[in-house]
Amino acid sequence: MAASGSGDIGDASRRPGRPGLSIAALLQRLGWKFCGAEGATAGRLALQFALTYSAFATVWIFGGDYLLHRLVADVRLAADLQTAKGTAFVLATSYLIFVLVRSRMAAVFGASVTLRESVERLGFITENAKVGYSHWDAATKHIEWTAVGKRLAGIPPDERMTFARFLDAVHPDDRKQVNSAVRACLNATTRPSYHIEFRVIWPDGTQRWIEALGSATFDGNEPIRIAGISFDITERRQADDALRQSEARQRSLLEATSAMTWSCPPDGSHITPNAAWMEFTGQSASDMLGRGWSTAVHPEDGEDLAEAWDDCLARGVPHAATARCRRHDGEWRWMSVSAVPVRSASGEIVEWFGMHIDITERKELERRLKDALEAANAANDAKSQFVANMSHELRTPMGGVIGMLEVLLRTPLSDEQRDHVSTALKSARDLTHVLNDVLDVSAVEAGKVSIENRPFDMREMLSEKLTLFGARCAEKGITLTANVEGDVPQWIAGDVRRLCQVMHNLIGNAVKYTDGGKIDVIGRFDRERGRAHIEVRDTGIGIPEAMQANLFQRFYQADPTPSRPYGGSGLGLAICRQLVELMGGEIGASSSPGVGSTFWFEFPTLECDAPGDDQDSEAADTQTRSLRVLVAEDNLTAQRIIQTLLHSLGHDATIVNDGAPAVAAAASGAFDVILLDVMMPGMDGATATREIRALGGRAGGVPIIALTADVLFGKDQRYLSAGMTDYVSKPIDVALLAAALHRASAHTNFARTRA
Ligand code: ADP
Repeated sequence: MAASGSGDIGDASRRPGRPGLSIAALLQRLGWKFCGAEGATAGRLALQFALTYSAFATVWIFGGDYLLHRLVADVRLAADLQTAKGTAFVLATSYLIFVLVRSRMAAVFGASVTLRESVERLGFITENAKVGYSHWDAATKHIEWTAVGKRLAGIPPDERMTFARFLDAVHPDDRKQVNSAVRACLNATTRPSYHIEFRVIWPDGTQRWIEALGSATFDGNEPIRIAGISFDITERRQADDALRQSEARQRSLLEATSAMTWSCPPDGSHITPNAAWMEFTGQSASDMLGRGWSTAVHPEDGEDLAEAWDDCLARGVPHAATARCRRHDGEWRWMSVSAVPVRSASGEIVEWFGMHIDITERKELERRLKDALEAANAANDAKSQFVANMSHELRTPMGGVIGMLEVLLRTPLSDEQRDHVSTALKSARDLTHVLNDVLDVSAVEAGKVSIENRPFDMREMLSEKLTLFGARCAEKGITLTANVEGDVPQWIAGDVRRLCQVMHNLIGNAVKYTDGGKIDVIGRFDRERGRAHIEVRDTGIGIPEAMQANLFQRFYQADPTPSRPYGGSGLGLAICRQLVELMGGEIGASSSPGVGSTFWFEFPTLECDAPGDDQDSEAADTQTRSLRVLVAEDNLTAQRIIQTLLHSLGHDATIVNDGAPAVAAAASGAFDVILLDVMMPGMDGATATREIRALGGRAGGVPIIALTADVLFGKDQRYLSAGMTDYVSKPIDVALLAAALHRASAHTNFARTRA
């Protein structure tokens, strides 16, 4: 905005001091109207010219007449000369006027063109920059507003402008400020200019913010004019307001959460804490000057915190650390300290904003959680150890029972005796089976079961199961079939032992829960998905729908009553699920009560090459030449069983009862194979193995088979890495012992051939 209405500002009574006696003032008093300083100067020049011209004309006319009169006596001549003088004067004056008028007209036309161009340029600029321009002339009291200026104030373009009209458009709350700023501008001794921001209200009620600058021009102390510009700053004001509001919101939020915040200059030279932070530490703002804050940091954390902070300052990256800080009452509290650099639009860091959060409770919780986790791990380890011990303690006597029954079966017996021994052996094996289930669950839980990937033949696996369960199915009047469907390659990769375990469980259940009817075992291979699918369908009792969802949960049985006719531990399916998932596969079931059930599982696999000779050894003929076997076993019953089994397989057995005598005996190099119990009172199997390996030569290279009642460890890397070549689990299955000895014998032959 600028300037004023005619006559309502620039009142003479408000003019400071007495005006000076200038030519312009004199002329004004004489009634001449000059416009401003330029008008006064022009008047002065015109007056000087008129006076000079009058003096020259007076001298020419009267001086010339006087000289003619004195010098020329002839009256006629004098009259002619006077006429000539007059003519010369008229000609000279005309010429002078011609020259003057021509040069002034040229100047005037030139100036008017320049003026028009300037006005056009100014109009273009103000229009496009949306800058309003106004001009108030003290002499004429006239106020001029550009169209943009009127538009900014919400005044129609054709409306006649006065200062009062302009004030009318200003927001009532800002009128006083605007009025006094413009009037103060007329006072030469105080403020010859103004710079104000105010609101205008448009006729439709819209409120806009205007910024206006103006300045007055004076002749002495006399204001001649006020020129001003104005522009719309509504968007900027709105952005400023939004920023202010957001800052206020943040401030109140921080105060409300009693967060401890601080800020500091880019160089981190001192921090400015908020009230909450000062209240917490009991320090004042001046205590925080320099590195004053560090006095509140725990001595053990101070150095690390300062180092981290300096690093962030140097690199301009966010700071995050934890440290203990002293509270005003002297208690050390854990704090999460964080700070972020605040950057200007050009990316320069203008300050750092930091925050301290008391995390003592969280730390305490973490500590307790860690302790609890350690305790839980210790308890879990203890449980694993207990299971391992129990496994040893239970399986060793079971080994005695099964072993002795196996030995008994190999002696001449009457049919009745053989029947009794067979029943006892079956019961012992059933008991071992339940025991194995419990131990298997623990082994999987403890992450002690690893999955192998070796080539196997699915058809062979299925037909083995057919043989295994054939007799039992015949007894119960069940038709058992096992087939593959579709394109199943001969060799696919997988953990055949674990797959057999799963199938064993599923077929065993199908046989258990089916009386009469049939059981079909089907194998498929999906080449595209790289998965094999095996399912066991039975026509047994089926499973009530409500029970089906929990089938694979541990200890779950569809009929949990003690009087249930089928028995079982409720662990078999849970183990199957765990094993199949370990292989990366899935297991499921569908069933209709009274119709039958289908249990299926899938596992990822690929077609592969046939296994090498050594891998096929288990399936191979286990007839082995007679071996000299050294057995280290501390348990007397186990010693007897192993000795008897070895004899029955046609091998020589030398028994020692600990690791140390086993090492001493092995040093002779007189044995083809060593069977080492892994848990012996003096020297355990792993240590004994290492010492035997250290013997070197033939004695040190002998195959060593671990005997372990600890299923949790299975084919544990610890035994293999100690140098053992194989393992047989207790209670010893005579067929598995024979297979292991066969492998060991092949190994010995190979070693001999090489030697
Ligand atoms: P269990 O040792 O009790 O058989 P499982 O985990 O193998 O334990 O099976 C859990 C329960 O699932 C069984 O108790 C039985 O109720 C039900 N079940 C499993 N397989 C079959 C099946 N083929 N037919 C009917 N019920 C079955």
